[in-house]
This record gives sequence, C-alpha cells and structure tokens, in this order.
Amino acid sequence: MTVESKVERGLFDEVMVPCYNPMEMVPVKGEGARVWDQQGKEYIDFAGGIAVSCLGHCHPAMVNALTEQGQKLWHLSNVMTNEPALRLAKKLTQVSFADKVFYANSGAEANEAALKLARRYAADKFGPEKSEIIAFKQGFHGRTFFTVTVGGQAAYSDGFGPKPGDVTHLPYNDIETLRAHISDRTCAIMMEPLQGEGGIIAPTDEFVQTVRELCDKHNALLIFDEVQTGNGRTGHFYAYQGLGVTPDILSTAKSLGGGFPIGAMLTTAELAEHLKIGTHGSTYGGNPLACAVAEAVVDIVSDPETLKGVAERETWFREGLNKLNEKYQMFAEVRGKGLLLGAALNDEWQGRARDVLVAAGKEGLMVLVAGTNVVRFTPSLVITKQEVEEGLSRLDKALATLSK
Ligand SMILES: *Cc1c(COP(=O)(O)O)cnc(C)c1O
Repeated sequence: MTVESKVERGLFDEVMVPCYNPMEMVPVKGEGARVWDQQGKEYIDFAGGIAVSCLGHCHPAMVNALTEQGQKLWHLSNVMTNEPALRLAKKLTQVSFADKVFYANSGAEANEAALKLARRYAADKFGPEKSEIIAFKQGFHGRTFFTVTVGGQAAYSDGFGPKPGDVTHLPYNDIETLRAHISDRTCAIMMEPLQGEGGIIAPTDEFVQTVRELCDKHNALLIFDEVQTGNGRTGHFYAYQGLGVTPDILSTAKSLGGGFPIGAMLTTAELAEHLKIGTHGSTYGGNPLACAVAEAVVDIVSDPETLKGVAERETWFREGLNKLNEKYQMFAEVRGKGLLLGAALNDEWQGRARDVLVAAGKEGLMVLVAGTNVVRFTPSLVITKQEVEEGLSRLDKALATLSK
C-alpha cells in the first residue's frame, strides 16, 4: 500500500483522532538542542518534547545503546527477565530510596501502578475502609481513567461516565485544609514535588514536611509523582532529594527514557511484597530496548557533573529571562527549579502564554506553556551555553514582535 496524499500537516486532520492540534511544521531531524523541519528550517529546542529529551536529540550514548541492543534482543514476555531490565533496576535502586522497581511504558502507567499498590497495601494491612486517595488541585498524573481522576482538573476526567471513587482534591500548599481533612481512612496522598502542568508551582518546605508527618500519623502512603521532576530535571536525581522528605512510592517516566517510552514505579521492599504474582503487569514493561536506552540515560544524568550542570544552566536561563523582562515587562516572575522553569505572565499579559509559544516558533524556537499564563522551559540537561544564548536571542525577537 502506498500513501497517496503528501505526508504533511494536512494529513493529520485526515487520519488522526483530533485530540491534539499540532503546529504546522513537521520536524524530521534532531541533534542536541536543535531540530529541523521538512523545509529545513532550524529550531532551538527549549521544550525537550515535554521534559523528555533530557540529553537532547539523538545523543550518541543513547543511539549506541539502542543500536547495540537492537541487534541483540528486542522483546521477551515477562515470563522471562532480561539483562538491561535488571541492570537498570539495580541502578534505579542505587540512585534513590527504593529497593524495588516495577516497569511500565509511560508516566500514567507508572502512576496507575503506584495507586494500585497503595490501595492493595491499605486493603491488605488495614481493611477495605482505608481507600481514600488525597490529591491536589492543578495536579497532573496522566490520562488513564484512574490517574486522570486523581489529577486536579475535573475538565480532563469529566464526560467519560462513572469515575473511580474515593478521590479527594485539596488545595496545594494549604496545610490547614489538609490537616483538617486527612484521617485514618486516608490510604495515600499523591502529589508532584513541583507541579508541572499546573503552572510550575513549588511546594513550601513546611507543606511537604507536614504532608510527610500527616501521612505517618495516619498510616497513609506518600506517593511522589516525579514523572516530570525526575531524572535530573531539578538538579537532583529525584526532586525529593532536594526537599528533605522521602516518599514511600515514586513514579518516574518522561526523562527516564530520554525519548524512548519507559516508565517505572519505585518503592520499598516492604510495600512491594503486596504486589504478588499476578496482581499487576504490563506486556511491554521492562522491554530490553527501552531499558538499554534508559540505562545509558541514567548513567549520564546521575553523574554529579551533569547534575551540577543543571544548576549552572538554570542560572543562564534565569539571567537571560530576567534581562528580557527588563526590556519587555511581561513576566510577573520566573519560577521553578533546575531546568523546569516557568515565566509567569504579568497582569497585562494574562492568558497569552500560547501567543508567546507561537511567536517563538516563528523565530525558530520551541518553548512550552503550562496553563494559559506560564511559558515553560524544559530543555535538554546538557544544552550548551551557545544554544541557550541563541535560543534566548530568538525569544527576544519573538517578544519584540508581540509587544509591538
Ligand atoms: C507527563 C506527566 C504524566 C503523564 O505521563 P505520560 O507518559 O503522558 O503518561 C504524569 N504525571 C506528571 C507529573 C507528568 O508531568
């Protein structure tokens, strides 16, 4: 069969489910923090997919890992294990609090596993009444029906019939409301240690510490969704390591594969016991190709030099964005941590984050939004100084056009 129509943006509307509205340009090639479209136009990538391409595009270590494994073995069922999966799991336990790993293929699936483990543990240990999941408004945990229901935006979970039950949403950073609500019926609290999709909102130290204390007091598990914050994004391998609070379950995906689909749920030996044979699973979870690539990613990202480099790059971005703000007066603040940064628009520019994204695209720069008021930056963790400067100068041109 041949494809008759031209392979360009128009074909999307013909053959794809319309749940996305992609930009006109179609990228065909990437290298480091640069991407080229079908017309050969070059872009600087300050998005990294959405916080995924943590080593840029086609990093040689990832290409090598993929080609090498691609000539050896692609797939086995979970009736057998494989070397890349075991090596990666060992490394993940070495870089985190966890003793045990469950592999999935995405962030939502890692969170689904986390939630099911929490429910199973509570039911086994305390009985069926202990089923309440507390999560936070503006939180995002993925698009499966359970995870989207736990996420803090009803608009994403409405309209699909009856939802998974016993999920409560409370305001983020509101200690008193949480304290008043949590009880011995609470099974788990799920939260992002820095809200990404919700607008790059950091928890206060007091809030995360209180969440941990209240979980302990009520025998509730603390689940950190580190799908966006994990794998070096904030300058720590996992964001919890910079917060002084350790979760019981952690989910990771996005940057873990650096562009190859993989997710994982990490937990302690005590909790892992409760996912006995047959209680959960995934056909592709632990796939040798995905694990080989992720192993290469973890090797580079866990290097203290890489993590130090994230903090250095944060400074380049903050200084550059503050300078642009002196010129154009568009941002109320630049916030976030490491290379998960948000420029929040001021009153005059409310609702116009997408205009910035489109204007930047025209100048050859990829950025993201987080909601309608925040321009989000999640570039490669190894982006060069020259690429950052070039990207910021393209952003300068985009902001100049917008403020005319
Ligand atoms: C992206 C994201 C998810 C969902 O990950 P998928 O791979 O799209 O399923 C879950 N939680 C957070 C915090 C995310 O940023």
